[in-house]
Amino acid sequence: MLWWQSHEPNAPELAISPATQQLFNHGALVGRFARELFPGGVHIDSEPWQYRQRCAATQAALAAGSSAIFEASFLEQRVFVSVDVLERDGHTYNLIEVKSTTQIKPEHVQDVAVQLHVLRATGVDVTKVEVMHINRECRYPDLSNLFTRVDVTAEAEAIQVRIPRQLHRMTEALAGTLPTVEVGDHCNAPHECPFMSRCRLALPAHHVSTLYRLGKRAKSLVAAGIETIHRMPPDCKLSPVAARQVRSVKADRIVVEDGLRDALEAIVFPVAFLDFETIAPPVPIWNGCAPYEATAVQMSCHVFDEQGNLEHFEYLAEGAGDPRTTVAEAVIRACRGAQTVLAYNASFERGCIERMANAVPSCRTELLAVAVRLVDLLPIVRNNVYHPDFGGSFSIKRVLPALVPSWGYDDLEIGDGATAQAILERLLLNGEAILLNERRKLRSQLLAYCRRDTFAMVKLLEVLRVHT
Ligand code: SF4
Repeated sequence: MLWWQSHEPNAPELAISPATQQLFNHGALVGRFARELFPGGVHIDSEPWQYRQRCAATQAALAAGSSAIFEASFLEQRVFVSVDVLERDGHTYNLIEVKSTTQIKPEHVQDVAVQLHVLRATGVDVTKVEVMHINRECRYPDLSNLFTRVDVTAEAEAIQVRIPRQLHRMTEALAGTLPTVEVGDHCNAPHECPFMSRCRLALPAHHVSTLYRLGKRAKSLVAAGIETIHRMPPDCKLSPVAARQVRSVKADRIVVEDGLRDALEAIVFPVAFLDFETIAPPVPIWNGCAPYEATAVQMSCHVFDEQGNLEHFEYLAEGAGDPRTTVAEAVIRACRGAQTVLAYNASFERGCIERMANAVPSCRTELLAVAVRLVDLLPIVRNNVYHPDFGGSFSIKRVLPALVPSWGYDDLEIGDGATAQAILERLLLNGEAILLNERRKLRSQLLAYCRRDTFAMVKLLEVLRVHT
């Protein structure tokens, strides 16, 4: 991955999606807030590729005795590092890595260990290494505890011994031709590698790794020569869902359990099909919100009665103001006459409604009454139905086109929740930077996406009822 990133920086796999851009934006925002905690600090803000200029500016800041240097830059034997905060502590320094996560991860320690190695090699006396991450206990408007600082000096010191060899291997590999590396667990951890399709030959259809929640057992099945579901031995112990998947794939047809009829009895007409889209900024912006608290800013609701009448309600917030009261009122209005409120993976909608009820006391009782009527369509499908085209997934994006072939998400500009969330955040919190026409276009794409999610449930329920 490193070789391709370095030798092919314009590779299509490295194109930045809206969701990736959102991660970058979060990192930049968190970095800005972190710097405010070190008044008088000097920011090394030349362009990222101006290595030598950045290093020279850092040396000048060190010589001037700056109390803190942000993005302090060092280059040693072709290894460049940029330290988020280098804080002076008497005659020595604290190296601080700022992370927009809510906890420390093993890769963070690896990251600071490399920085520590380079700083020491360039003669900077670092005695303390910290990771400063987002504190999930923080609540807006009090941002004084937005960060937690964790001392990881011992952990970073403990792996110093192996850093020079790791760096040597990487710089050697970069200087040579494309290295041959077997695919393995490292391709997915700590993040999924974007070059997966280059290294991994396409797996055959119904590969055992698609078996529902099989986890690491897939590896041993492949090792035993069982590569596809078609070759699964009949005596293999599986969960009821995975066993149904095997039956369906082997028979090449949909399998529907008798239990579907009873499960659908929990759904009483009129039914409100409800879906939210949320934003979850790392630095909270509305009263009482925690970092990364998913807050509903958009809703779609189709209401369907037994006579076949269908009504649609929708709302999409505008601007950075707190939308929770308006969303709450829209939900209550839409669900007022419904006996059942149906959602797909309803724990998400339930969480949104409960947080909204806490934030908007005037709507609390009615919101909780909506939550009581929530029924989850996902387990009804998962526990009773399997179609070979599900591919081991019960996400509505897989289930809808399999069960209702004329419907899917491919015709939409926005086709997944992560993209919708990234665009919503940009539109609401940074909308003034987007031209009016573009704003209108994005709003209409978002409305179409959320509307599809609820209409998908209407069509799914229709098809499921036919199968009972
Ligand atoms: S898929 Fe695995 S082996 Fe291939 S480039 Fe990515 S990490 Fe390396």
